[in-house]
Amino acid sequence: MTTISANLQAVKSRIRAAAQSAGRDAGAARLLAVSKSWPAASVRSAFAAGQRAFGENYVQEGVAKILALDDLDLEWHFIGPLQSNKTREVAEHFDWVHGIDRMKIAERLSAQRPAGAPPLQVCLQVNVSGEASKGGVKPDEVAELARAVAKLPRLRLRGLMAIPEPSDDVNLLRGRFALLRELLARLNAEGMQVDVLSMGMSDDFEVAIAEGATIVRVGTAIFGLREKKGIR
Ligand SMILES: *Cc1c(COP(=O)(O)O)cnc(C)c1O
Repeated sequence: MTTISANLQAVKSRIRAAAQSAGRDAGAARLLAVSKSWPAASVRSAFAAGQRAFGENYVQEGVAKILALDDLDLEWHFIGPLQSNKTREVAEHFDWVHGIDRMKIAERLSAQRPAGAPPLQVCLQVNVSGEASKGGVKPDEVAELARAVAKLPRLRLRGLMAIPEPSDDVNLLRGRFALLRELLARLNAEGMQVDVLSMGMSDDFEVAIAEGATIVRVGTAIFGLREKKGIR
C-alpha cells in the first residue's frame, strides 16, 4: 500500500467515525482531496486508491493538472481565491467553485461556462471569523448574494463554504462551523434548496463534521506537508 492510499483510508475512517459519533450517517460527509502543490502523479495514486474528487486553489496549477489527468474520470473543485481575469479558465475546466464572495465573479463564471457543460456547482464563501484580511462575504450579506447567484443560468448554487481562523480552541471552532450551518438553514427556510456545507480541513475536519459538514477539504492528512511554508 502506498502512503497516500494508507492516509486516505485513515482519513476516510476518521470521517465515518466523526459522522457516527455526531449521530449522522457514516457517509454524510464527502472527502475532497486537496492536491494543491502536489504533482499529477500524487493524484493518480489517490485515484488508484478510490478517490475521485480533488481540490486545487491556483488556477494555472489546477488547469495543468486537469489537462494532464484527463484520461481519468475526476471531479475538480476550485477552492482558492479567484480574480476576475482568471474566471474563464475556471469556468471551462472545473466542476465546482467553493469560494464565491461577490456577484461580479459569479456573473463572469456563469457567462463563461461552456454551453455543452453541466452547470457549474458553486458555494458562497462566508467570513465566519470576522477577520478583515479573510475572503468571504459577511454573514449578514449571505442571503442577498445567494438570491442573486441562484438566478444565474449556468451556475447551480449548492451551499456555503468557510475557512475559520486556525485555533486550538475547539469551542471557538465549533461556533464558527455552527454559524455556517445556521446560515445554510436560513437559506433553506427561505425556500432555496441548498445542501452543501464545505467546511473542515486536516486540523479540524472532525469538529466540522460534528457541526454538519457535508464536504471536508483535506490536503496535508492525505498527501503530507506541503513544502512551501504558508502556501494556502
Ligand atoms: C489548502 C486548503 C485546504 C486543505 O488544507 P490542509 O490543512 O492541508 O488539509 C482546504 N481548504 C482550502 C481552501 C485550502 O486552501
